[in-house]
Amino acid sequence: MKLVTFDGARIGVLRNETVHDVTDTVLALTGLPFPWAMNALCGVLADNLALLERAADNAGGVPLSQVRLGPPIPAPTHLFAAPVNFLAHQAEMQGAIASYAGTAEMLGFFTKASGSVSGPADPIELPDFPERRFDHEGEIAIVIGKEARGVSPQEALDHIAGYTIVLDVTMRMTETQREERTFRKSFHSFSPMGPCLLTSDEVPDPSALTLKLWLNGELRQDSSARDLIVDIPNLVSRASHVLPLRPGDVYITGSPAGVGQIGAGDRVRTEMPGLGAMELPVVLRAW
Ligand code: MN
Repeated sequence: MKLVTFDGARIGVLRNETVHDVTDTVLALTGLPFPWAMNALCGVLADNLALLERAADNAGGVPLSQVRLGPPIPAPTHLFAAPVNFLAHQAEMQGAIASYAGTAEMLGFFTKASGSVSGPADPIELPDFPERRFDHEGEIAIVIGKEARGVSPQEALDHIAGYTIVLDVTMRMTETQREERTFRKSFHSFSPMGPCLLTSDEVPDPSALTLKLWLNGELRQDSSARDLIVDIPNLVSRASHVLPLRPGDVYITGSPAGVGQIGAGDRVRTEMPGLGAMELPVVLRAW
């Protein structure tokens, strides 16, 4: 199943190019308002897929082209991110910045402010930091289902509600300007998410997930979860031993090689086969 949010505070099931509004069903099921209902839904999703399918059957369909999609998880409690998690990306970053020594194997995770999340219809807004470099990192994202506390890698997949795409937009350090990583990656719209949540029942083997990213029509990133240094079950397991992972938490798995600079006027397109694509314009922030 593909779940979306749309038109501000609506929740839908996406079938082909049609959105079926299941907002009332989700709010009743979770007892929570939007957007918190989406987090709670992730925790009970596995037991309620049939209920949602029926609600979608009974809801009229609206063409996807007539709605404005939002991020599928608009307000994750935690937005975890793997640092260097592809060997080829580590190699390219060591070329640029000498201190890129560790990988996710050693470094664990970092977090981005969840307020950096934006939707697949929103532009990437670059703040006014002249002479700083901003990069795209197209990443496969895990969405946590039922709470994961101290789970083993073997148990981890039972705690994943599904998958989505997140762009980990990043302001790079310079020799003299070395803000915290959280600061440089947490500007609003620096975590565009979408276009949907693909539920994990449709992803029996997450190592088969792949992601591509194009900048202005040119393929820049082409990756497979098979090449992750720390794989998806181990990312979830290890983080779950640090703190309980909550329903709707998002964990972005790390950027493949091909990271490159973006600027106003660019268009960034990312796609995961079977999940969908999002294409985002890059603009200068107007506020
Ligand atoms: Mn990243």
